[in-house]
Amino acid sequence: MITRRDLILRLSSLPLLGGFLGEKNQLRALTAAPARNLAKELGIRTFINAAGTYTAMTGSLMEDEVMEAIKGTSREFMMLDEVQDKVGEKIAAITHAEAAVVTAGCFSALTLGLAGVLTGMDQKKVEALPHLEGTGMKSEVIIQKGHNIGYSHALINTGCKIVEVETLEDLEKAINDKTALLWFLHIQSDRGQIGHEKWVEVAKKHGVPTMIDIAADVPPVENLWRFNDMGFDLVCVSGGKALRGPQSAGILMGKKEYIAAARLSMPPRGSTIGRGMKVNKEEILGMYAALDKFVNTDQKKLWKTWEDRTALIRNAALSVPGVKVVTDVPELGNHTPTLRISWDTAKVNLQIKELQERLRNGTPSIEIMPGGSHINITSWMLQPGEEKIVAARLKEELTKASI
Ligand SMILES: *Cc1c(COP(=O)(O)O)cnc(C)c1O
Repeated sequence: MITRRDLILRLSSLPLLGGFLGEKNQLRALTAAPARNLAKELGIRTFINAAGTYTAMTGSLMEDEVMEAIKGTSREFMMLDEVQDKVGEKIAAITHAEAAVVTAGCFSALTLGLAGVLTGMDQKKVEALPHLEGTGMKSEVIIQKGHNIGYSHALINTGCKIVEVETLEDLEKAINDKTALLWFLHIQSDRGQIGHEKWVEVAKKHGVPTMIDIAADVPPVENLWRFNDMGFDLVCVSGGKALRGPQSAGILMGKKEYIAAARLSMPPRGSTIGRGMKVNKEEILGMYAALDKFVNTDQKKLWKTWEDRTALIRNAALSVPGVKVVTDVPELGNHTPTLRISWDTAKVNLQIKELQERLRNGTPSIEIMPGGSHINITSWMLQPGEEKIVAARLKEELTKASI
C-alpha cells in the first residue's frame, strides 16, 4: 500500500510536478487518480487555462464540493420537480429573489424566463410557443441597440421579435400593447444611454416586466442579489463561469409568478420549447453546491489569490526587454485581474498568433486569449501552482524570440 509519506517522497523526485504543483494538488493527482483517463484514451488535449471562462474551453472546473454533490446524489432517484422546488427555495433565499430555478445555462434561463412572461400559467399558450400569432400572447422585446449582441437570440427562440431603442424617448415610444419584456444586458451597460434604474422605472410605469442578463458578471458576489433588490423581475446568471458549477447549468431567479410559469416550459413537461433544456438532478444539486460555496468563500482572499498569481506572471513577462504589461480589471463582465501583454517587435520577434500556438503546443499545453495587439491572461481558472508554469513558459517563449 502506498502511504501518504511515500507519495510525497515519490513526488518530490518528480522535478516538474514537485516544483510546480502544491502538495495538496500532488496528492489529489495521485491518490484520486481515476481508473481510466478518458482524455488520454480518446486523445483529447487537456491544458492549463490562462485565458478565462470561455464556453469553448469548457468554462470552468467544478469545485470539489460540486463533484461531491454530483456523485453523492447520483445513486438515488428523486422527483425532478421536487429537486427544483427545494433547490429553488435555497437559491432564492441566497439571492433575495422570490423564487429561483436551475436552468441549462444562462442562455436557457433567458428563453425560459421570457416563455414564462408570455404564457403565464396558461397551458394552451405553453404548448403554442414559439408560435404567437392568434394566441393573444405579446410578441415584442425591447432592447437597447448596444445590448443587442448575439445572446438576444435566446429571446427570439420564443417567437418574439426584438425592438431596438437608443434614447429614453425611443423607449417610451416603443412600448405598446405587444410589448412582452424590457431586457437589459449588464455586460453592455456602458453601451446604452439608459441605465439600470431608469430601465426598471420606465418598465414599472408601463406595467411591463424586466429581465437582466448577468451571465458573466459574478464576481462581485453582490451582483447575485443586487438586481433582484433593484427591482428587475427576472435575473439570469451562468452557473459554469466564475461560480464554477456545472457548465451546463445556470440560474433563473425573480418573481414567483414568472418562475412558476417558466417551469411550465421546462422538463419534465414535454410539448414545450424547453423540453430540450433538461438539467439532471445531479447538475441542479451541483449548481446549488457551487452557489453555496461561492457565497461562503472569502472574496477578498480569493481576489488576493488571483492578484498574486497575475503578479507572478506579469513580473516574468516584464523581465524580458521590450515587453509591456498592463493590468486591467474589467468593470463589466469577467471582473478579474487581467494582464494585457504586448511587446516591441523590434526587440521580440514574435507574432501574437505564433505565441498562442507555441504555448498551446508546448508541454504542458497552455491556452491564452489573443487580442488585437496584445495577449490576454487571467489567473482565475488556474489550478494552484499553475501560475508558475505559465510564467516560466511565457518568459521562455518571449526570451527565445528576443533579438
Ligand atoms: C456566457 C453568456 C451567456 C450564456 O450563458 P450560458 O451559461 O453559457 O448559457 C449569456 N449572456 C452573456 C452575456 C454571456 O456572457
